[in-house]
Parts: sequence; structure tokens; C-alpha cells
Amino acid sequence: MDRENNEAMTQPDNNAIRDLVIVGGGTAGWMMAAAAARVLAGGVRRITLIESDAIGTIGVGEATIPPIHGFNELLGIEEQAFLDATKATFKLGIQFENWGQVGERYFHPFGKTGRDFDGIAFHQLWSWLRDEEGVGQLEDYSMSAVAARNGRFARPDANPRSPLSNVGYAYHFDATLYAAFLREYAIERGVVRVEGRIVDVELDGESGYVSSVRREDGASIPGDLFVDCSGFRSLLLGGALGVGYNDWSHWLPCDRALAIPSAADEEIAPFTNSHAHGAGWQWRIPLQHRTGNGHVYASAFMDDDEAERLLLANLKTPPLGECRPLRFATGVRERLWDRNVVALGLAGGFLEPLESTSIHLIQTGIAKLLALFPDRNFADVERDEYNRLMTSGYAAIRDFIVAHYHVTRRDDTPFWNHVRTMDIPDSLKTRLELYRQKGRIFRYDDELFSIASWSAVLNGQGLVPLANDPLCAALDGESLAEAMRRMRQVHHNMAARLPMHRAALGPSAGDA
Ligand code: FAD
Repeated sequence: MDRENNEAMTQPDNNAIRDLVIVGGGTAGWMMAAAAARVLAGGVRRITLIESDAIGTIGVGEATIPPIHGFNELLGIEEQAFLDATKATFKLGIQFENWGQVGERYFHPFGKTGRDFDGIAFHQLWSWLRDEEGVGQLEDYSMSAVAARNGRFARPDANPRSPLSNVGYAYHFDATLYAAFLREYAIERGVVRVEGRIVDVELDGESGYVSSVRREDGASIPGDLFVDCSGFRSLLLGGALGVGYNDWSHWLPCDRALAIPSAADEEIAPFTNSHAHGAGWQWRIPLQHRTGNGHVYASAFMDDDEAERLLLANLKTPPLGECRPLRFATGVRERLWDRNVVALGLAGGFLEPLESTSIHLIQTGIAKLLALFPDRNFADVERDEYNRLMTSGYAAIRDFIVAHYHVTRRDDTPFWNHVRTMDIPDSLKTRLELYRQKGRIFRYDDELFSIASWSAVLNGQGLVPLANDPLCAALDGESLAEAMRRMRQVHHNMAARLPMHRAALGPSAGDA
């Protein structure tokens, strides 16, 4: 039910949100605070963020995907200042090792791969001609992948005729420095930071809406709209409002991680590395001043000691410190917006970091909240639309991540046998069957991952369609194969001329 009557709704100014309260100062909290300071200033009377130094933040979450540029543009952040402040590096995609089969590797690049022709998707053309002399691998047609494999980097070129026009990139950054960078931005623009542990959430007796949060020292902070960024605790949405959790662990059984930093790598690869082990996988995220590493694993299939042994044995550079354990259950809250509380980040849900989608989901949550920003009437239709859009976004990303596990040919451990043969969501079954038949991939609604992303992963995992797209039969295969050989050569020639990644990061890259 809408909170107030129709008469009140005709006076929007009187009903505007006055006090916006953000609970939590991790990546989610400070992203929300920075965006609110930029977009809502003038409309909202006060924006307050409460964080607890004693509790701290999760401290991981260092790999991003290209839509992050949209967030930086919204805030008006200059790229070099951002790179320097967060010790960031460029990310052209993810390299997957041992995923399809032990000893194999493939690249999921950002940006476009090849060019569609006569309405036929590029991966279909490649699949049709893949055995022709000199046609090579699908990833040869991605400028991002070819540059990454050569340790080089370039930004996209706006000229559509340049091979660099297909480049897509994101960043790796230090999560703690990123939160600090956004904190400074938000505070400069008027956000009030309050330090202290919240011990109670007070609800309005009549409406059941959150009226205030109370700190350990007894101080109460009232608000009209609360954004719960309290991490896995989900203090407001899961805790005070009791919104349940849709647990997806049966599709994504990894439930633990060990994280450890190691020394900076001389080469600074322009990509995330994902190396599969017996019951999960290990990330390597190169930053300017150190390397982030972690092992994500399923505790039902591997114990903590073995997970730690594998992680340490596969570090490329010497460890800096001890392994930090993290536990999680993959899934999402039944509603991400309930009454006057919206949850962002880990407070709302968690999909394991295989495709670096969590920070993106925070960004999407912020964008949709701003697009549907309520007044104190809290119209049901706005809340429902938010929940519908966010829930379908989470489910689409879930399917993409599940596909990495399910479409494996590995049978060397109980874990891989389990994920290869497990039941999968119906939505994913249909997708995989369409691909298996004739290589077809569709992008539904405004889902995150493109046809190029799905084809990179399904092909990389070793899934070969049973038949070619029948539309290819109308094409001249000889001349198309020749055009593809030329395109492949152009990419390799161009990559050899690009700057090395470290040089592209700017003069202070690698400084302590
Ligand atoms: P947190 O960082 O946990 O922040 C919670 C905040 O709430 C803190 O400020 C805390 O002090 C405050 N708080 C909690 N309780 C109280 C209280 N009672 N009173 C006051 N304050 C309180 N994402 C990516 O996009 N890319 C990745 O590569 C990636 N890798 C990951 C790897 C692992 C193993 C995990 C577990 C996650 C990863 N993520 C990744 C997800 C990413 O870490 C999070 O999405 C991101 O850090 C946001 O976290 P958060 O702000 O929601 O929570």
C-alpha cells in the first residue's frame, strides 16, 4: 500500500525525501554517497553515512567491468587522478586457465569480437570457418584479447574504421583506496560522515518503516530513506525488516574464499587471471603496488588447509601477510527494496566474483534507485519496478556464472563431476540448448553480458555447436575466410605497436 493518500501525492515538494541515511562505508556505501552527493544535492536536505571503524570493510572487490566508466563519468572523475589515487591498472578481460579441461586456457575479452556480416553474428561466421587455414582462434578477432596477450594496452579509438574501435576495458583497483577516494569526493560535496556502531534499528509502529538507527553511544539518526550498505550483516533489510534470502548455493556451491596480497608483478598483466583448482578457482589481480590473490572454493569438496596450500603454491610473487578467510552463500534477498530500505552491495546479495560483477551490481542498484527515486509516499509501483529490474539482473548474471562451471569437460575431481552434471536453472538450459544446436545466442532485455561474452565463454569452455547457422550457406566462404585472415593479421600487427601496459598507466605507475 502506498504510504500516504492521494491528496499528499499532489504536493511533491512537501513530500520530498529530506534525510537520506546510508548505513555502511564500504565500496557500496561510498559509491552511493558519492552518487547521491552529485545527483541529489539540492533535492535532499541531508545525506548521512554511518560506518564503524571497529567493524571495518570486507576489503576485497578489486576487479571491475567496463560499465564502471559510466559511474566515473557521472561523478566527473578524471581518469589519471583515479588511476593514481587507487593504484589502479587496466583490465582488458579475464584469462581462464584449467576451466574447460586441465591445461587449456581461453580469454573472455571486453569490447567487441570481429564484425557481424549480413545480419549473422560474428561467432557464427568464425564457427563455420574455424577449420580453414589461417582463421585461428575466436579471440584473435578481439583487439582487447590480442593486446592483453601481448601485455599491451590502448584505449578505444572513436574512429569506427580503426581496429582499436573494438577495444573495451575496465580497471583493477585497491578496494580500500577506492572507498577512501569516494569518501573524500562525497564529504567535499556535503555528505555527513558519522562513525560508530549501530546497535539498534527503530521501526515506526504504524507503518513498519525504519524511522531511525541507534548508535552504541545512544545517539539516534533518523531518516526518510535508508540505504543498507552494511555488508553481509544486512543490518536493515535482512535484519530489522526480515526480508528473506534466495539461496543459490545449489547452483554455485563455492562458499568460501581465502584472500592474500602478494608483491607487485614486474609485468603487470592487463587482465585478471582465473586459474581453476580441484574445487574452485584462484584469482590474480595485478595492481600497481601489489597483487591481489584469492582462492574461491566449495567447502563441501575441499578443506581449508588444502585450499590454503593450493593458493600459496600458485602465487606468482612472494606473499605479503597472512591468508584472510571469508565465508558467503551465493544468492539475493527476496526483495532489494522493502518499505523505505534499499540494500546495495553485499547487504542485498552476492554472486561469487568469477566475472567481477558485484561492484557493477552496486552501480546498477544506484542508477536504478536514482531513476526511480521516491518521495515520502513511497509508491508501490516504483519499489516493485526496482525489485523486478534488479532481481532479473541478478538472475541473468547468475546464469552466466553457472555456465562457466557447468560447461566443463573436467571429470578429474568430485567437484567438477558435480557441477558438470548438476541440474541448472531452466533459463540457462534453454540458452545452452540453443547454442548446442546451431550456435545461437540471444541477449534478453537489457542483461549485462553480450553475445560476444557468451560466445567467448561457451566456445572457450569447449562447447561446439552440432551444426552451423544455416544462414551461412548463402555466403561466399572463400572470400569471407580471406577477410578474416586479414582482420586477424591487422589485430596482431596493431598489438605489436601498442604501448606496454605499465607505460600506459602513467608516469607514477608502480610508485609506493
Ligand atoms: P563491506 O565492505 O563489508 O562494508 C560494510 C560496511 O558496513 C562497513 O563500513 C562496516 O563498517 C559497516 N557496518 C556493518 N555493520 C555495521 C554496524 N553495526 N554499524 C555501523 N556500520 C556497520 N566485487 C567485484 O566487483 N569484483 C571483485 O573482484 C570482487 N571480488 C570479491 C571476492 C570475494 C572473495 C568476495 C567475498 C567479494 C568480492 N567482491 C568483488 C564483492 C565486493 O567485495 C563487494 O561487492 C564490495 O566490496 C562491496 O561491499 P559492501 O560495501 O557491500 O560491504
